[in-house]
Amino acid sequence: MPINHSDYVKDIVFAFKKLPGIGERSARRLAFYILSQNESVAYNLADAIKSAKQNIKLCKNCFNLSGDDLCPICRNQSRNTKLLCVVENPEIIYVFEKSGNYNGYYHVLHGLINPLEGITPSDIKLRELADRVESGSFEEIILALNPNSNGEATSIYIQKILSPYNVHITALARGIPIGSDLEYVDKETLSEAINFRKNFG
Ligand SMILES: [Zn+2]
Repeated sequence: MPINHSDYVKDIVFAFKKLPGIGERSARRLAFYILSQNESVAYNLADAIKSAKQNIKLCKNCFNLSGDDLCPICRNQSRNTKLLCVVENPEIIYVFEKSGNYNGYYHVLHGLINPLEGITPSDIKLRELADRVESGSFEEIILALNPNSNGEATSIYIQKILSPYNVHITALARGIPIGSDLEYVDKETLSEAINFRKNFG
């Protein structure tokens, strides 16, 4: 249990440091900023995180974040049932939806195959992807994975496991710089990458 003020500060700094892209200095700055603000700033932040964590689960169909068993995209029957876009994480769906240029469905892998970190095909939602393709009406599977070695390895693996099915596999067009994160690509670039997608393999 913390016993004096610096222990409390250390706890907050420690928690922030676990976030991606936050080093010791940024963590310290955030901690002191929050402590210097009105109580409501800290409580609103803590409450928002807590209630989101308590209420958001994974969509049973596509593994997007969802408040219900099925996310709003899977519940929307006016989308294009022939298109399935495979993404690494739910944040990419957010970026795609903002681009307003895609109206098919999604499948979230929750990671990429990464031999260096010991992430194997069975650690991500690949079996579930094959099941959906087998039982669904999809005609085109769009691989929208980050252009790095893990994204490439995962794309090749997907091509292999989907080969028994009669689907056309495409990938986002280049224009997205190699090594960049899709999360940070602007919506115009992403729209172009979808419009000019190419056959994969
Ligand atoms: Zn869904």
